[in-house]
Amino acid sequence: MLLPLAATGAALGAWAYGTYEPNSPLFGRAVGRGPTGERVAYLTFDDGPNPGATEPILETLAAWGVPAAFFLVGEHVRRLPAVARRVAAAGHEIGNHTLRHQKLHLRGPRRIREELERAHELIVDATNQVPRCFRAPHGYRNPFVGVATRRLGYTVFGWTFGVWDSDPGVSAEEIRARVRRKLRPGAIILLHDGDGYDPQGDRRRTAAALPGIIADARAAGYTFRPLRELVA
Ligand SMILES: [Zn+2]
Repeated sequence: MLLPLAATGAALGAWAYGTYEPNSPLFGRAVGRGPTGERVAYLTFDDGPNPGATEPILETLAAWGVPAAFFLVGEHVRRLPAVARRVAAAGHEIGNHTLRHQKLHLRGPRRIREELERAHELIVDATNQVPRCFRAPHGYRNPFVGVATRRLGYTVFGWTFGVWDSDPGVSAEEIRARVRRKLRPGAIILLHDGDGYDPQGDRRRTAAALPGIIADARAAGYTFRPLRELVA
């Protein structure tokens, strides 16, 4: 069969955009940024809970009176339910980040539903809160992800920018500087308090960068807002 190559290429391009672009609407709406008309920003932490970083991050947020959202990995919640409970008890937004931090774009409907629903149950059991937000690992999605998130009543989040804070070579000072340079109105900032695969992953540099990140943003006139206000 002779394929209409141009049309096929465009379709593949659109599919790739929907799969790999975390804020693409192709496989369901994803919130990638808040209101751009004022100096507000949103802190989000993925891949926890993690005892080495989540706890100091909670202390910093409490000391500065700043809200954040935590997208939790179900298997990490299973190992560390008390840490997950502390995040929720502090009033931060709790989100679902799958059971095993699977890249979902190549998975089928049954596996995707299991990844989301098992993580949902573990989070509810540990925190006594029903998550209302979802972020796909690496932002990778396909149409089945939209089906599963709609079932659970989730708002799907992407992000405005990340700073590669999980890169092992980056210092806390560099993480802070990258956020300062990239900050813009409505930004949903992607940071990591854990590692999607290693429950002991070292994210202490992100924790160490956080006071400076908050201080820089406030000095530039920004207020950190709760992600909940962007939940549909
Ligand atoms: Zn992740």
